[in-house]
Amino acid sequence: MTTFVEEKRENPFAIAQQQFDIAADILNLDPGMRDILRVPQRELTVRFPVTMDDGSVRVFTGYRVHHNITRGPAKGGIRYHPAVDIDEVRALAMWMSWKCALVNIPYGGAKGGVVVDPKQLTMHELEHMTRRFASEISLLIGPEKDIPAPDVGTNAQVMAWIMDTISMHRGYTVPAVVTGKPIDVFGSLGRMDATGRGVSITAREAAKHVGLKFDEATVVVQGFGNVGSASAALISKMGAKVIAVSDVSGAYYHPRGLDIPAMLQYATQNKSLHGYQAPGLELLSNAELLELDCDILVPAALENQITAANAERIKARIIVEGANGPTTPAADEVLFDRGVFIVPDILANAGGVTVSYFEWVQGLQEFFWSEEEINERLERIMVRSFNGVLEIALNQRVPLRTAAYLVAVKRVADATLIRGIYP
Ligand code: NAD
Repeated sequence: MTTFVEEKRENPFAIAQQQFDIAADILNLDPGMRDILRVPQRELTVRFPVTMDDGSVRVFTGYRVHHNITRGPAKGGIRYHPAVDIDEVRALAMWMSWKCALVNIPYGGAKGGVVVDPKQLTMHELEHMTRRFASEISLLIGPEKDIPAPDVGTNAQVMAWIMDTISMHRGYTVPAVVTGKPIDVFGSLGRMDATGRGVSITAREAAKHVGLKFDEATVVVQGFGNVGSASAALISKMGAKVIAVSDVSGAYYHPRGLDIPAMLQYATQNKSLHGYQAPGLELLSNAELLELDCDILVPAALENQITAANAERIKARIIVEGANGPTTPAADEVLFDRGVFIVPDILANAGGVTVSYFEWVQGLQEFFWSEEEINERLERIMVRSFNGVLEIALNQRVPLRTAAYLVAVKRVADATLIRGIYP
């Protein structure tokens, strides 16, 4: 049933570089600085064996990439997905550098991944693979140098195993080595929903800007994992009508609005929306979902979903990028010309890394904050970042993505300049 738009997958790293080049040109960045920022600083590829439940040995490939650590320790998620490759991880690491700089938290950018479909592994195999991968990348990770977090295919449990593995190596508990951990092992209140909360805040601000009443808006969300489901839940709580959501099993559409809490419960119990039923529900493909008539579209699954091939047919007035890299530069141009307002990934989904930063700070201090405190601080950072980017976009007549890159790239370039080149 699923026809996810990935027939001709464009290289995400080439796209990330293209997006960087647009900002570098406008900033008139020095050629040497361009060369520094255009490529990752460190890349680790690991190949490691895991004994499977049937006694056989399987060798997995994984990566950890540091794009830039000028502004602080490397920060970025770990992805478990069969399509993970070095260029995807490079792109995701680069986007993390810009995202952290944009919301002005003291981190550099990193990302990791393992080429695996985690759904094909037993819990036992998943734990062993995770622990071995954590050991392999322990060359790089640590609370003061590189702090992983969940991404596609990983979750709080995977983070707990990584934390435990690094703690076993050291002989004492190291809570701040990962974020997105379960609350029971010093995770942060509010982290589970943080990316979705940031998406919903920027969606609300974007609606305000384009003169759309949020409580009359219709919303479509692609992806129903950590980001998509929390975005859908919070957006519908804020009064907008979520008319379609999707996951890998396909898309679920009801023009009068979906019962998001019921879908969340179903997806938690069944690990997917596959088989979900409700009166009047229509089943669509992921490609059809993107082209539905709606006010706000939230892509929250994977890269390269809105491309030159479908950009003309997107009907949403606002796109809020919950996912990293869902829109290609070619599609960006088409959508900008058509007046579609895009809140770019490095802004829209920065709520996750922002609360990860709060979790890290709490872990380092062993002093924990209330959920209200977390959500208030997150709200302030998201609104401030959105308005800062919007002002530049309006003043310079550039898309929000370019405006966001102008802020972020300049912050990293300035820090590099001030620190100087060693030795
Ligand atoms: P997740 O694994 O929790 O969920 C991914 C969702 O996408 C699932 O519903 C899955 O079914 C769906 N999906 C995956 N492959 C698909 C396919 N081929 N067709 C249709 N749907 C598909 O992942 P997540 O953490 O929610 O991440 C989603 C996106 O948000 C990614 O781009 C990620 O990099 C980005 N992101 C995540 C966070 C975070 O805090 N988790 C923060 C910032 C950005």
